[in-house]
Amino acid sequence: MAIVGSGPAGLAAADQLNKAGHTVIVFEKDDKAGGMLRYGIPDFKLDKTVLDRRIAILKKEGVKFMLNTEVGSDVKASKLLKEFDAMLLAGGSRVARDLKIEGRSFEGIHFAMDYLIQSNKRVAGKKIAASKLIDAKGKRVVVIGGGDTGADCVGMAHRQGAISVVQIEVLPKPPECRSAAQPWPKYPSLLKTSTSHEEGGERHWAVLTKKFEGEGGRVKKVLCSRLDFSRKDDRGCPLMAEVPNSQFELRADLVILAIGFIHPEHGGALNQLKVSLDQKGNVKTSADYMTCVKGVFSAGDMRRGQSLIVWAIAEGRKAACAIDRYLMEKTSLPEM
Ligand SMILES: Cc1cc2nc3c(=O)[nH]c(=O)nc-3n(C[C@H](O)[C@H](O)[C@H](O)COP(=O)(O)OP(=O)(O)OC[C@H]3O[C@@H](n4cnc5c(N)ncnc54)[C@H](O)[C@@H]3O)c2cc1C
Repeated sequence: MAIVGSGPAGLAAADQLNKAGHTVIVFEKDDKAGGMLRYGIPDFKLDKTVLDRRIAILKKEGVKFMLNTEVGSDVKASKLLKEFDAMLLAGGSRVARDLKIEGRSFEGIHFAMDYLIQSNKRVAGKKIAASKLIDAKGKRVVVIGGGDTGADCVGMAHRQGAISVVQIEVLPKPPECRSAAQPWPKYPSLLKTSTSHEEGGERHWAVLTKKFEGEGGRVKKVLCSRLDFSRKDDRGCPLMAEVPNSQFELRADLVILAIGFIHPEHGGALNQLKVSLDQKGNVKTSADYMTCVKGVFSAGDMRRGQSLIVWAIAEGRKAACAIDRYLMEKTSLPEM
């Protein structure tokens, strides 16, 4: 059984399939197993000893890991398809949403994952060449995107010794408690304040990023304006309108783009296997987690889009159950 990707979906599936008696090999393109848990989520939020302990248990129980091995380039996906009885694609969803505005090409503007992965590797002891270093020390940092990934960038920038950290978000500030517009059992959209925010910095909502300005090829300013969401369309949905004469600028030596992920990488393994994609560009499967290619399954962010660890674990376990049934015609693995 070949598993592509060692994030929570791949690890959960490996654990279950190994317990069911299959020989499980996990292929991971990075130098260490864990997926986003390893190099996406910072150590200050997830202590890596927890992850190391769990991976050591899996290894002792017989799961094999092929690190530094990218399926699709280091090893052809079609080769694995021939050599293994089944494959699980659990490669996550990492193609970042970009902000294609004037000045985007200035140096000093980076995607959140490039910043976090490098910073987490440095915390783990890896040396980064000065020419490639993305470091907030002594810099004015602007994080664009008010979500959880942005919050992790805020916390990282504080730890690296930024002079100032400002986080901006295009949407209006959510309410701090459940409003009448979000009655139970609706999932409420509430203001989230993480420990990273409690540590310092500024947060601004309803801000449109219009342009980057720079000097000598490096970013120096982010030009913004305020947004108004008070007008509604015929369906009652808020309309976004720029507030006249509300332009303002933020000084910035380092800009981090944390405005979400669009879908998994489509080249490499997915292209070689010719799996179908859904409308959002994620890997499409039937209810039993099988893609349009017989014996090739998918789970986690690669299948459902960027989500949460609990969902990745749940999908990995459900996919393992479906894979065991596919291989053995019956299964004693739990559905969950
Ligand atoms: C910055 C950040 C913070 C987050 N914080 C939280 C949080 O606090 N709580 C929470 O619940 N969720 C959080 N999430 C979301 C959570 O991390 C993901 O939903 C979860 O990790 C998805 O698991 P996965 O196994 O599907 O994919 P991933 O964890 O992305 O793992 C995929 C793995 O596959 C490998 N891979 C990809 N392609 C190949 C290939 N071709 N060959 C070999 N290996 C390959 C990748 O290197 C990676 O290791 C966060 C996400 C980010 C980006």
